[in-house]
Amino acid sequence: MSRRKLVAGNWKMHGTSADLGEVAAVAEAARRLEGKVDVALCVPATLIHRAAEAVPGFTIGAQDMHMADKGAHTGDIAAAMLHDAGASLTIVGHSERRDAHREDDAAVRAKAEAGLRSVLDVILCVGESDAEREAGRALEVVTAQLRASLPREGATAANLAIAYEPIWAIGTGKVPSTDDIAEMHAALRRKLIEALGDAGEGVRILYGGSVKGSNAAEIFAVADVDGALVGGASLKAADFLPIVEAAA
Ligand code: PEP
Repeated sequence: MSRRKLVAGNWKMHGTSADLGEVAAVAEAARRLEGKVDVALCVPATLIHRAAEAVPGFTIGAQDMHMADKGAHTGDIAAAMLHDAGASLTIVGHSERRDAHREDDAAVRAKAEAGLRSVLDVILCVGESDAEREAGRALEVVTAQLRASLPREGATAANLAIAYEPIWAIGTGKVPSTDDIAEMHAALRRKLIEALGDAGEGVRILYGGSVKGSNAAEIFAVADVDGALVGGASLKAADFLPIVEAAA
């Protein structure tokens, strides 16, 4: 099955209004490559509204949100609020959230379901630690994470993507071998089909972890790699656009 690739940038806790020019440069390239590749930037929540207004039609995403639709949750943001601010997708379950904010699979699943309820597309992250890979447990750990954090309702091929992000590859410059990426993406594809039937064939599986212009083409050539979630190399359009072009 052919799936158009999605390249999403995750700015993490970087970026202010001084960086909107980077968003504009990426949006301009995305417009040029429309139909060949889907592109999104997941900016800090504080920048979503300004970014969405600056580049209408371009996909601005969030990086996380609360699983409740509203309520007494000081400092938190609901999916509907992100949507109202101009986001059309959100990341959930990033390993930095799972680790620093103790988010388990049940919380990630609840967030994914909340995002879909509020018409945000969802990029759901899974990935193993260094110790788990060294122990030969990567496939078991990551497929179990997917099973336990996949939304029980509302997911379609159009509104859900999975990001396989080995924790040890994030921000380290280390990347798994293409054989290891292929093995993991094939296992995730099987699980998606088991859980979602035909829709599981269409759900995009992104790879994330130290993707750069110099390694993107090789990674995108791997079967079942349907794009990338990019951290550090998404902050500057000059670094991000070679990745987008490799996907197109
Ligand atoms: C990420 O944090 O999602 C990520 C993939 O980061 P980097 O590209 O910097 O490894």
